[in-house]
Amino acid sequence: MNNSGPPHDGHSASEFSVTEDEVTCQQFVELVTDYFEGALQPRTMSHVEEHLVMCDWCVTYVEQMQATMASLRELGEPRSPEPPDSVLAALQAKRAAGA
Ligand SMILES: [Zn+2]
Repeated sequence: MNNSGPPHDGHSASEFSVTEDEVTCQQFVELVTDYFEGALQPRTMSHVEEHLVMCDWCVTYVEQMQATMASLRELGEPRSPEPPDSVLAALQAKRAAGA
């Protein structure tokens, strides 16, 4: 009899504990996009806000994210270096006429 399997400690597999009462800085960074979009569950949202109360680093991170998002919105659509089709068509028409 060679009984070298892992020992059983009697715990049920369904009895796992979730320690999400506190949000770590890394979790916060992962959640921050959903936080801005208001996509967080109310329970998660309250944990995030509790974390913000006691974590200056994440408050600064949120402020930087807000500034970045605001400047992105101000930029709007990227400028196109190419002239519109109507200008190209007019130039081609002139060339064709002169040739
Ligand atoms: Zn933090």
